[in-house]
Amino acid sequence: MLYLQNAEAQKLKKADRAIIQSLKNEVAFLSDDKLEGRRTGSTGEKLAYEYLAGQFSQIGLLPRGDSNTFLQAFAINEGKEISPSSHFIINGEELAPYKDFFPFLFGAQGTLEAFAVAAFKERGSPWFLDIKEIIESSANNPHFDIDGAIRQQAEAFEKKGASAVFVFHSDPQTEEMEYHPFSNHPVLNIPVVFIKQNAVKKFLHDPSANLEINLKIETADKIKTGHNVIGYIDNGAPYTIIAGAHFDHLGYGEDHNSLWTGERAIHNGADDNASGTSLILELAKLIKKSKLRNNNYLFVCFSGEELGLIGSKYFTNHPPVNLQQVNYMINADMVGRLNEPSHQLNIGGYGTSPAWGKILENEHKYFQLNFDSSGVGPSDHTSFYLKDIPVLFFFTGSHSDYHKPGDDAEKINYIGQLQVIKYIYQLIDETNNMGKLPFTKTKEPSIDSPQFTVGLGVMPDYSYQGEGVRADAVIDGKPAQKAGLLSGDIIIKIDDHSFHDLTSYMKVLGLYKKGDAVKVGILRGDNPMTFDLVF
Ligand SMILES: [Zn+2]
Repeated sequence: MLYLQNAEAQKLKKADRAIIQSLKNEVAFLSDDKLEGRRTGSTGEKLAYEYLAGQFSQIGLLPRGDSNTFLQAFAINEGKEISPSSHFIINGEELAPYKDFFPFLFGAQGTLEAFAVAAFKERGSPWFLDIKEIIESSANNPHFDIDGAIRQQAEAFEKKGASAVFVFHSDPQTEEMEYHPFSNHPVLNIPVVFIKQNAVKKFLHDPSANLEINLKIETADKIKTGHNVIGYIDNGAPYTIIAGAHFDHLGYGEDHNSLWTGERAIHNGADDNASGTSLILELAKLIKKSKLRNNNYLFVCFSGEELGLIGSKYFTNHPPVNLQQVNYMINADMVGRLNEPSHQLNIGGYGTSPAWGKILENEHKYFQLNFDSSGVGPSDHTSFYLKDIPVLFFFTGSHSDYHKPGDDAEKINYIGQLQVIKYIYQLIDETNNMGKLPFTKTKEPSIDSPQFTVGLGVMPDYSYQGEGVRADAVIDGKPAQKAGLLSGDIIIKIDDHSFHDLTSYMKVLGLYKKGDAVKVGILRGDNPMTFDLVF
């Protein structure tokens, strides 16, 4: 045990040692390889939420999820996938979806049986589109909208009588195009299908060859389900205090949110966030045994956090208690790596209620406290703050194993974690007689992720599936708000750089630095608008 020095160990009371033993067991279970990194929608997530529901039940909490269970299911839209009923057969040989071909979502679904010759463009036949020139002419524009250009060509072919458009790149050295599960483009009346290099080599090396084509394109929504775990202590009180932590993590890094560049590996997420999850379990036990009766208590383990606060956002939009009656929310995300000997504890959301200033002292006998005023941050409390609920966010700091496979249980500082639990418990105790804490909006939120030097200052809507990035909220005092953007605007362009999704949006942001002046293109409803913005 890394941090359990003898002197400190001796100071621990029996009850404290019991909590530490429980924390160890809980973190060990949640960060075991068996759970494969607790990725939302995976078998590992299921093992985790079943375990947590079992723990909530043992603690004696009441189920407040769906249909009197501890679980609250929510859907995550992953766009469209190619249905298994689809096929693409050329000269009797079946091509593999994704690997050999894929449909563009702006093309029609349907079936087609035809003879074709790649070199000929006849009315009523499939036409072929070599995108070599389009790609080469856009070479100096890294954010060129290739889908838009292909669609434009396909629409022109459709008008001239093509029954389908087969798109390919005649240079075998080119970087392969990949299927994209989201599209915002209007749908054409004919299928548009990309043929990948493997099949181009086989069938299109001779443009005058006869091709017998049998095509069926069908796509379907790809939905994955995540589960929050919700337990309740009902004291018949007018207000409810919510304490939550996310339990999902990165799996093997499939969602491109890992910082690991080595071989494929399980991301166990002991600190992120088995630590916060176990904190919630132990806090629930303490409060259940306590005499704190002036509030009800709701304990929530969120899923979908790593994909963009999706679980907490669903929770606040489908709350099991009236949000007007939520007193405040406490979030614990990464509380397992308290530094020795500095004991730095970061507390976000300090500005979300004037009450926090009265309760939280700057000086603490154990912790060195760092306060951040903002109610918006990179974790689930943000979802509650955006519903005008006072929040506090507890975080013991980042480290070199953050979002990497090395975030393992043996590196957790359990004594530090115990102290965080006691601190939060005391704080809840102090609010017992305070009634409903007033809410205040905060002025200087810090949302910018460390990888990027600039941000627009919007909360992206992670469940939005169209082209561009939809702003769920525009943050006061940040560039987007100063420029005149509003919540609900869809950001589609920064200067000439367009983006499909959040990943490409992040890449575009990476091109700028503080002080840069740009033009931001947005859609407000159906109206395209442009704003001058300074980062
Ligand atoms: Zn994380």
